[in-house]
Amino acid sequence: MPTAPLQAAPGTTPPGEGFYRRRVKVHPKKVSGPFRQLKWAILFVTLAIYYVTPWLRWDRGPHAPDQAVLVDLANRRFFFGPIEIWPQELYYVAGLLIMAGIGLFLVTTTVGRAWCGYACPQTVWTDLFMAVERWIEGDRNERIRLDRAPMSVAKLAKRSSKHAVWLLIALLTGGAWVFYFADAPTLARQLLDGSAPFVAWASIGVLTFTTWSLAGLMREQVCTYMCPWPRIQSAMLDEDSFIVTYKGWRGEPRGSAKEKAANPGAIGDCVDCLACVNVCPTGIDIREGPQLECISCALCIDACNDVMARLGRAPGLIGYSTLRRDMAEAKGEPLQPMWQVIARPRVLLYFALWSAIGLGMLVVLAGRERMDILVSQERNPLYVQMSDGTIRNSYLVKLVNKEARPRRFEVTVAGPAGARILDPAGSAPPAPRIELPVRPDGIDSTRLHVRIPATSLAGDTVEIRFIARALDSTGEAGGEASATTRFSGPAR
Ligand code: SF4
Ligand code: SF4
Repeated sequence: MPTAPLQAAPGTTPPGEGFYRRRVKVHPKKVSGPFRQLKWAILFVTLAIYYVTPWLRWDRGPHAPDQAVLVDLANRRFFFGPIEIWPQELYYVAGLLIMAGIGLFLVTTTVGRAWCGYACPQTVWTDLFMAVERWIEGDRNERIRLDRAPMSVAKLAKRSSKHAVWLLIALLTGGAWVFYFADAPTLARQLLDGSAPFVAWASIGVLTFTTWSLAGLMREQVCTYMCPWPRIQSAMLDEDSFIVTYKGWRGEPRGSAKEKAANPGAIGDCVDCLACVNVCPTGIDIREGPQLECISCALCIDACNDVMARLGRAPGLIGYSTLRRDMAEAKGEPLQPMWQVIARPRVLLYFALWSAIGLGMLVVLAGRERMDILVSQERNPLYVQMSDGTIRNSYLVKLVNKEARPRRFEVTVAGPAGARILDPAGSAPPAPRIELPVRPDGIDSTRLHVRIPATSLAGDTVEIRFIARALDSTGEAGGEASATTRFSGPAR
């Protein structure tokens, strides 16, 4: 989609004429309207989810943590409600990341940078920090005056109060983050009595600093220069993507209400009041066309609709539109039905991909075994020739119990005829099967010997498969897993 060249703000070096572009501080003005309300609603919901989630409990029985969402780094587990992900199952996390990526493609293709404008953490925290700034230092004009004023007791008081509240929010943000990695009530007590581990303090410190600097000091600079997403998104937009659009055909040429009344038909609807520019959190002028800095927050729509309402003109001089619809509207041609714009092949393809991965993950998740067996053959010695003519190999067998209750697994071997397993303690005669207890939500390792008659060994090695079946209290099978390795004997 064509994009307007980057515009240099007054007093700065135009792009292409210098390597460094000096920052022009943005002082967004307060605005009200439906999009602002929607942004507030999303801000409250997302922040509530972030701060409350670590305190939600989920009963998994006595052998597993009861925190609903927990990244248990010490035991290498990820708990999410009824779902427990083990390190070997990290492909679920990869699947979720792929879904998030395709979900972003889907949203961007349909409604442009809606993620950036409404739900991105940088946007949410910046919005919160700006609200605090407005509360303490006043609206746009007061803040500009305060910036220009020499340092005084009043200015110092306002500045320090603002930074104190910002730092408190940043501290709570960092504080909430660490609760995702440990039992929240326990860690909260440790933080209060000073006995929390160093890594918790360090994480809170780093996150407090990054939240304060990214949301309080750097703000729109993060979106414009640090985040790669705007560049990627530009490649995903097409002429049917909804983006915040200034209808130049309706607004130009600009002129005051008086000029418009004096020259009917010669002046557009834009009165050049700059209300749309003054509320923009990235400080751009949407009338110059689609720009990389625009995060599609739609606050300029609210500001302009307010101006239009006061002038008694139709709303929508700035609004969500697609390039194709805007051009059709300008020519007075009929507009493509909304469902056709949304249900176009590209969007449907992204949606189908996103749904297929989600469904696939649900199916795999529902059918996954809650147990596993890992076997490695001991190599020193590789085999032992027994006095009764049999050959013995030893194996390190790891039994994985992914359920939060103790279980018993039956282990058998398949492959060489006449194979017998020896009890690890050596207290029972060799048998075709062995039953072993496995602790809840853990891995138990056992050294097992397997004996086979020398006649079962065709060459110097033969394939052997260890099969583990989980037995519940009634002795019925509760899952099965197997591992294949080698049985070795003397060279023939
Ligand atoms: S131009 Fe409008 S939509 Fe874009 S960032 Fe500025 S206020 Fe938000
Ligand atoms: S708010 Fe509307 S009328 Fe005012 S300058 Fe922006 S586009 Fe023009």
